Amino acid sequence: MNEHSSPTHSIPGFISLSGASAREPNAHLVGTGAAAGLLLDCGKVSGPADWLEAFGREGSGVGEAPQAVWVSHVHADHVGALAELVQRWPQVPVWMSAPTKALLPFALVSQGVVRARAEAIARRARVAPWRVPVAVAPGVTLTALEAGHMAGAAMAMVEVEGAEGPWRMLYTADFCTHAQALLQGASLPRVAPGALDLVVMEATLATQKALDAVEYDQEVERLGGVLSERRGALLVGAAALGEAAELAAILVRALASPGELLVDAYAREVVEVYGRQLASEEARAALQSVRYGERRQLTQHLEAGGVVLAVGDQFQRGTTAGALLPRVAKDPRGTVVVVNRAHRSSPAGKLLRRAGTPEQAGARVVHVHLPTHALRWQLLAVAELLQPRAIALVHAADGSRHALRRALQKAGLEAPIHVAPSGQWLTEL
Ligand SMILES: [Zn+2]
Ligand SMILES: [Zn+2]
Repeated sequence: MNEHSSPTHSIPGFISLSGASAREPNAHLVGTGAAAGLLLDCGKVSGPADWLEAFGREGSGVGEAPQAVWVSHVHADHVGALAELVQRWPQVPVWMSAPTKALLPFALVSQGVVRARAEAIARRARVAPWRVPVAVAPGVTLTALEAGHMAGAAMAMVEVEGAEGPWRMLYTADFCTHAQALLQGASLPRVAPGALDLVVMEATLATQKALDAVEYDQEVERLGGVLSERRGALLVGAAALGEAAELAAILVRALASPGELLVDAYAREVVEVYGRQLASEEARAALQSVRYGERRQLTQHLEAGGVVLAVGDQFQRGTTAGALLPRVAKDPRGTVVVVNRAHRSSPAGKLLRRAGTPEQAGARVVHVHLPTHALRWQLLAVAELLQPRAIALVHAADGSRHALRRALQKAGLEAPIHVAPSGQWLTEL
C-alpha cells in the first residue's frame, strides 16, 4: 500500500475512490497506468458525487477519465452518479448486464433523473452477456457472473493484459450465494488457488453473526404461517428494487387466492422485469397473477382485510408503506411485516421495539429476514473457495472489515487482506 502515489507498475493498481467503508457510494477503480482504467460502479446516495473530482486531480494518481465503466446493479449506491458521469464523459462506454439495463430507467427516475434522459442513458448502455468475456477497454476484458442480490446484479471478472501475463481480479459488488424466492445465488467462478490476483469483496453483513442462523426458506415458511394466521389486514413494506419482486412472489404463492394480495403499482415496472427474465414457468406465472393498485386502492384493500405489499422497506415517511402504516398499526386484528433492515430511528425500528414491550397494543408486528447480501459464513466460504493472492474488503464499516479480516486469518487464509480507506491506492497487487 502506498498512499497518494499512482501505480507505476505494469501490474494494475486498485483504489476505492469511494465505497471502502459503510454508507459511502461505491466507485472503485482498476488503474492501468496513465489512462484512468476501468471504473467499477458509480454510486451516489445524496448530494454531489465527490469522488468524481479525483479524476485528473493533481496528486490523486487518477487519470483524466475512466476508459470504461462497469455498473454491477441498479441500487443507488452503485449507479446513482451515472447521469453526471455520462454528461461529463459522453463517449465513455458503460457496461452492465441485460436485466440491469432493463431496470436502469426506473432506477434513474427514482433517483430524480427525468424519464426521457434516463431512457436515453439506458439505450446507450452496453450489455455484457453472462459468462462471456467482453473487451471493455484496450487490454481489459470483463466477464459478468450472476451475483444473486437482485435482478441483474453481477460480479465482474476483470482480466488486464500485462508484460508478465494477464492480471485477474473479481469484483463481487453486492452478492449472496443463497437462492431467494426468484433469483438463484451467485455463480462463483471456478478458479485454481492463486489464479485470482485480487478479490474485491463486499462485507455488508460481516459482523451480523445472528444472521448466520437464518435459513431463507424457513423464513419464507414462517411468513406463510403469519399469512395463514392473520385475522385481518396485513401490510408488508419492501424496497422497490429487488425486495418487492421477491416478496410479491412469496406472498402470491403462499395465499390461497391471488386476489387476496394487492401490490403497490410503483413496483410494477420492476416486478415485470423480474418476470421477463425468469427461466421458471411457475415463477413467471406467479408474478403475472399479481394485481397492482394505487394508494387509494391499497387503502381500500387494507380496509377490507386484504394483504398489501407496499414500497417503503422501513415504512419511512413519504413512502407508500409509511402512509399506509397508520391504517394497520393500531388495529388489534392487523399485522405489519418488517423485512430485513430496520434502523432504530426508522418507523420500522420503532415498531419492532414497541412490539417487544408489554404495553404493546394494536397490530401484530413480525420481523422477517430475507437477506439479499452474503451472510458472514458466505463471505468466509467464498474467500476460502477462491483462494486469491490478495483480498480487499469494501462496503462495510471499518470495524466490520477488520473483524472479517481477523476471521479470515483465523480460518487460515494467508493472502494479504486489505482494509484500506477510500482514496488510498493498493499497488503491487
Ligand atoms: Zn445493492
Ligand atoms: Zn450496495
